[in-house]
Amino acid sequence: MSTKTQLAIIGGGPGGYTAAFLAADLGMEVTLIDLNKNPGGTCLYWGCIPSKAYLHVAKLLNEAKEASNWGINFGEPKIDIDKLRAFKEEVVNANTSGTGQLVKQRKINYIQGKASFVNSTTLSVDKVDGGKEEVVFENAILATGSIPAHIPGLTIDSPRVMDSTDALELEDIPNKLLVVGGGVIGMELGSVYASLGSKVTVVELMPALLPGADKDIVKVFQKSIEPKFEKILLKTKVAKLEDTGSSIKIELEGENLEETKLEFDKALISIGRTPVTKGLGIENTNINLSDRGFVQTDDKCQTSDPKIFAIGDICEGPMLAHKASAEGKVAVEVIAGHKVAFEPAAIPGVVYTDPEVAWAGLTEIEAKEQGIKVKVSRFPWAASGRARTMDRSDGLTKLIIDPETDRILGVGIVGPGAGELIAEGTLAIEMAANAKDLSLTIHAHPTLSETVMEAAEVYFGLATHLYRPKRK
Ligand SMILES: Cc1cc2nc3c(=O)[nH]c(=O)nc-3n(C[C@H](O)[C@H](O)[C@H](O)COP(=O)(O)OP(=O)(O)OC[C@H]3O[C@@H](n4cnc5c(N)ncnc54)[C@H](O)[C@@H]3O)c2cc1C
Repeated sequence: MSTKTQLAIIGGGPGGYTAAFLAADLGMEVTLIDLNKNPGGTCLYWGCIPSKAYLHVAKLLNEAKEASNWGINFGEPKIDIDKLRAFKEEVVNANTSGTGQLVKQRKINYIQGKASFVNSTTLSVDKVDGGKEEVVFENAILATGSIPAHIPGLTIDSPRVMDSTDALELEDIPNKLLVVGGGVIGMELGSVYASLGSKVTVVELMPALLPGADKDIVKVFQKSIEPKFEKILLKTKVAKLEDTGSSIKIELEGENLEETKLEFDKALISIGRTPVTKGLGIENTNINLSDRGFVQTDDKCQTSDPKIFAIGDICEGPMLAHKASAEGKVAVEVIAGHKVAFEPAAIPGVVYTDPEVAWAGLTEIEAKEQGIKVKVSRFPWAASGRARTMDRSDGLTKLIIDPETDRILGVGIVGPGAGELIAEGTLAIEMAANAKDLSLTIHAHPTLSETVMEAAEVYFGLATHLYRPKRK
């Protein structure tokens, strides 16, 4: 069977389905190909959405525990793991059946199967029902995403060793859990298991958790989150990992280690993700890959094969759902002949732990690396009335400001709700707001958003709730 289509999209994750929906709304005839019954990709099936369902529950468990400080005792929580998993599955099903409905409403030709390029204008699809289909396209968007990175020796074939997809299955709550990697996924899933009762040890090679985030933000985060974990070992490497049949035994290498041999019930390997570029027939096209194995694109999301675009995790840049969908929209608009480019001033990053961590735009680390002169203005949440009402004075809001123009270049926030609060910072950066704009905008009281306004006031030495006169 052979189909002709104006636009073929390979991969129905947040990049691919967003692109397909916009293209259909703009009047294009679209074919979307994915292995799953409905679009959603990593984000909806094995990433953002299921992890946030569990993190919501983890936050509730933390708050129930903290409630004893306010005179309320809920007692020890009873966890029905099957019901919890069913809740996660319900959330995933509701979201993915929703994307399935939207495909039908937009009359998109959805093919469930695995696509690969035959040449620069044709795809061959091995359909899940066993059939084969050829799709001839005018333009294509490649959006096949990423999968967990596997490091030989660390990722052994054992039911006790999990990647993020396995961890989200929540088969059981291991008594002792090792998390290899203190990045976003490791900290999020580690937090889930810790709040469900696992004794979690995190091993991170770098000197700090959440590599990429500013040190002051990470310091507040680590101080707050550390008591929930058994151990957090930084500058430490898992040199050996072995399944004994009844446990996972590991050997560690690093400085000042009290013990180098540890034993766990299970291990979660969360050391990053790799782009899915194999088995796609890329060699039959003129697409170029970077040295790191990502598909090379320009600011129009166009590959070196002019009719083929690429978006999301298979391209360079942060592996985030909203980056994938934003690129998807750009690619479609370029195909539609609009004058657009992918050049965001800020892509927010959020860690949905408790406390949450969020940043957007320039970080202090990047400013230093790039030799950009900045001023940093910080507002500690100990001075926020709203944070006090929540008994959560452990937060911090910081602004990275251009001292010449007072323009907001970056925002970093740690504290509950940071993931929502960062939207104001992202908008400020995109709209080229300056510190005065933020300090003069009336923020509702009492809210955590006031910390953004007061961080701007700190810059002028005029914060209402913090006495920090401007140095002459
Ligand atoms: C545990 C976890 C938590 C995460 N949390 C967040 C978060 O909170 N916020 C956030 O922004 N990001 C988060 N991410 C990252 C986010 O999921 C990805 O950045 C995002 O899904 C990338 O979108 P994409 O469209 O590029 O690819 P994907 O979502 O990976 O989708 C690619 C799709 O292509 C399909 N495919 C692959 N090969 C073929 C082929 N040959 N033919 C047809 N189909 C194919 C796949 O089956 C898949 O459905 C998380 C990831 C993980 C693992």
